[in-house]
Amino acid sequence: MERSSAIFKRLSQDKSKREIAYFTMEAALENDIPSFSGGLGVLAGDTLRSAADLGIPMVGVTLLQQYGYFHQTLDDSGNQTETEVKWNPDLKLTQLPNYTEIKIENRIVRVRVWEYEIVGKYGYVVPVYFLDVNTPENSEQDRELNKQLYGGGQYIRLCQEVILGIGGIRMLRDLGFRDIDRYHLNEGHASLLALELIRESGYSSYDKVKQNCVFTTHTPVPAGHDVFEFDLVKQVLSPVYIDYLRDILEGENPVNLTTISLKLSRFVNGVSAKHGEVSRNMFKNPAIESITNGVHSATWTSQSFRRLFNQYIPGWDIDPSHFVQAMFIPDEEIWKAHMTAKGKLLSLVEDEAGIRMDLNRLTIGFARRAAAYKRADLIFSDLERLIEIAGDKVQFVFAGKAHPKDGEGKQVIRNIFAAIEQLKGKIEVVYIQNYDMHSGGVLTSGVDVWLNNPQRPREASGTSGMKSAHNGVLNFSVLDGWWIEACIEGVTGWAIGPEPNEPNLSDYDERLDIDDLYEKLEKVIIPLYYEDRSKWIRMMKNTIALNAAYFNTHRMVKEYALKAYHVSPLFQ
Ligand SMILES: *Cc1c(COP(=O)(O)O)cnc(C)c1O
Repeated sequence: MERSSAIFKRLSQDKSKREIAYFTMEAALENDIPSFSGGLGVLAGDTLRSAADLGIPMVGVTLLQQYGYFHQTLDDSGNQTETEVKWNPDLKLTQLPNYTEIKIENRIVRVRVWEYEIVGKYGYVVPVYFLDVNTPENSEQDRELNKQLYGGGQYIRLCQEVILGIGGIRMLRDLGFRDIDRYHLNEGHASLLALELIRESGYSSYDKVKQNCVFTTHTPVPAGHDVFEFDLVKQVLSPVYIDYLRDILEGENPVNLTTISLKLSRFVNGVSAKHGEVSRNMFKNPAIESITNGVHSATWTSQSFRRLFNQYIPGWDIDPSHFVQAMFIPDEEIWKAHMTAKGKLLSLVEDEAGIRMDLNRLTIGFARRAAAYKRADLIFSDLERLIEIAGDKVQFVFAGKAHPKDGEGKQVIRNIFAAIEQLKGKIEVVYIQNYDMHSGGVLTSGVDVWLNNPQRPREASGTSGMKSAHNGVLNFSVLDGWWIEACIEGVTGWAIGPEPNEPNLSDYDERLDIDDLYEKLEKVIIPLYYEDRSKWIRMMKNTIALNAAYFNTHRMVKEYALKAYHVSPLFQ
C-alpha cells in the first residue's frame, strides 16, 4: 500500500493518467443525481465506485439527463402517475469550460460537460463526465435532446447515442486524456464510440479499434436490443459513419447496435454464467465470455452491518473476500444488526404508507422495475392458498416503477393493489411508492427474505439479491441470472421452481414455479423462521460468507481488469 507516498499522490491526482474510459448511458452516482432509471445505472455507479476504491485508472462517460427518471405516485387502485423530476446539476456537478461539437442531421450541435469526482477509499479519484447539449448555442429543439433518459422515441434515442458515443470520444480528447486506449461499452447504447474511433484513426483501422474495445451485453432477449431503421441512421449520422456502417454490417437493415459492438470489440461478455451461455447461443458467437455482476459492498451494506463488519471483519470494504469471516460473528450480534435494519424498514413503511408492521413477523420483500416478466404478482396467483399458508405469519413489502410506456408493467402494479384489497385483515401487504436507491437500500437490508421470480431466462443477472446477501437477508428466487451460481439450497437461501436445464428456457410450465413457491414457503421457510432461529442465523451468515464475498463489484472489476482491461489495481 503506497497511500502516502509521492508516487501515489501522482497517480491519484494526475487525472490525465487514465487508461480506460467506461461509457454508459446511465450512472447512479447518488440518489440525488437522478441520471439513471434502474439496474443498469446502479451497476454502472457501483462499477465506478469500485474502480475508485481499487485504484483502476478509469474515467466514466455518461449522458446528463436534464430531468431525472420520473417520480411515481400510485392511487388507491395502483394507477401510476408520473411526474417530472427537476434537478439542478449545478448543485451536484462541476461544469467545465471544455466543449466539443457533433453533427446531427446537418446541424452542428455543441456539447458541454459536467464533472463528478468519485473519491475512493484511499483517495484515488475516478472522474465521471456528464455530456449535455442544453446550452444557449443550440436550437431549442436540440437543447431538449438529453431532456429524458431514453425518452421521446427512436429519433431522440439515436441522437442521445450519438451524443454519448461520438460526443464522448471528442470530449475526452478535449479534456486532454492522452493515455486512454481502452473503451468499455456498457450495453449497446455506447457502440457509436467505435465508429468515431475508426474515423479518428482512419478508414481500414477496424482491427486496431477492435483491439481497444470491450463490450458488456446485458439483454438476454432479442427484442431488448437497440435497433434503428437504416434510413433513420442515414438521416441523423454524417455520411462518413454511414460508409463504415455499410461495411461493418454488410448491408444489414435495420441497424442493430449490439451487432456493431460485437463486431468491433476484442472482448465481449454477458453478466452471469447463464447469461453468457444464452448470449453465445443468441448471437451464435462462441467467444462471448461471462463476468458475473456484483454490487458495491460499502454502498449496499446497512449501517448496522457496516458497524458489525468493521468490528469483526476488518478490511471487508476493500477486499470483500474477507466476508468468509462472517461465520465467526456471534449469532446475537447478527440478529441485533438485522433487527436494527428491519426497524428502519418498518419506519419507512410507516412514513410512506401509514401502516405499522410487526417487527417479529416474517417479512418478505420484492422491489424491482415493474416489468411483466419479473412477475411481481406471482405470489398472489392463489389468494386462498396464500392466506392458508401465510395468514398471521408473513407480511409483504413491494416497490417498483413501471416504465411510462409499459402498459403490462402498469397492470402488474394494479394486480398487486387488487390483491392488497382482497387480503385486508388477513395478510398485511404494502406497496412503497417511488422505488429509488434510497428505498432500495432500506428494503434489501430490512426484510427477512428477498423474493425474486422472473420468467427464465430473462434476468441476465439481477443485483438486488446481492444487496440483500450483504445484509444477511435470505434469497428465495427462481434459478436465473446470478442465483444459479449463488444458491445452495437450504444453505444460502432457496430456489423456486425447476433447475434451468431445458434447452429452450422460456418454454416451461410456469405453474411449477408457483407451486414450488407456496410449498417451500409453507413447509420450509415459515417453520424455520419461527421454530429454528439458530439455523436461520446460520443461513444469514452463510449468505454473507459465500454470496457477499463473491457477488460484489470489487471482485467483478478485478475480473474486468484481469481479463478485459489488462491492468492491475493499485490497491488490493
Ligand atoms: C439494485 C437496484 C435495481 C436493480 O435490481 P434488480 O434486482 O437487478 O432488478 C434497480 N433499481 C434500483 C433503485 C436499485 O437499487
